[in-house]
Amino acid sequence: MEKLNSCPICQSTELKTFLECKDYTVSKDTFAIVECATCGFHFTNPRPTEAECGKYYQSEDYISHSDTKKGLINSLYHYARKFTLKKKLKLVNESVGAQNFGPSQQRNLLDLGCGTGAFLNICKENGWKVQGIEPSAEAREVAKKNYGIELNDVNSWEKFPDNSVDVVTAWHVLEHVYELEREVNQVKRVLSSGGTFVVALPNCSSADAKFYGKHWAAYDVPRHIWHFTPADVKRFFESQGFKLESVLPMPWDAYYICMLSEKYKAGSVNYGRAMVHGWTSNNNAKDTGNTWSSQIYILKPVK
Ligand SMILES: [Zn+2]
Repeated sequence: MEKLNSCPICQSTELKTFLECKDYTVSKDTFAIVECATCGFHFTNPRPTEAECGKYYQSEDYISHSDTKKGLINSLYHYARKFTLKKKLKLVNESVGAQNFGPSQQRNLLDLGCGTGAFLNICKENGWKVQGIEPSAEAREVAKKNYGIELNDVNSWEKFPDNSVDVVTAWHVLEHVYELEREVNQVKRVLSSGGTFVVALPNCSSADAKFYGKHWAAYDVPRHIWHFTPADVKRFFESQGFKLESVLPMPWDAYYICMLSEKYKAGSVNYGRAMVHGWTSNNNAKDTGNTWSSQIYILKPVK
């Protein structure tokens, strides 16, 4: 385990305990989330070192890696994923909509933490040149077998030339990344001027996060080491040379997270209650604008 003595965003050393959360999916151990007294940022602290974090991903329940379809929640997840994949494709298509691509040029996308490659595959089928970086060797194998896509490991940044990528995507990935500044600097380097960084993150200031507290499934300790609010996202990315252009909702996520949170809180899922809290959270977010359970941030590098 390693303990941070200062806030990675504002460097304040005044940290207070915010929540004690259990790892419900793998280890069943308890981890603390601290809050920075100066800027309000939340992070898991202490946390497993990067070298030992692998064992916390060893679970069939970790569906983004294993593609399991066992159980109702996983089935619903896969059902919803078909819709969300199309929505994500539409979003990246729109992000380059105004740019012209010559006949020999192909739109170029890099997905970070691409798992087994389902999103890259739909992009490839729709004319994108796709590349991905994925830490799990097992997931890279599945992507190669299922889609014929060769993914890179996390030490492959030097393969990507400066200003060579039109869109970089990170769908629920940065909350897992240890060397966050280093990765974000690499993204900025490889993005073309006018390029887009699409970042999806859970929002720990959403109504469902507040309602479920320590049982909120998107805290997902210790795999999630950073817990962002929209204000944290804006502050952090501006400090790294990005401009936050817009924020988009991910309404499906509220239902999925509420189902899992119900399971963690009560031991079994009350689907009716999960639907009510998911709906309530989305309804609240419609009124307030940026308190969706998960949100997509459209960022542009300042070059
Ligand atoms: Zn801080």
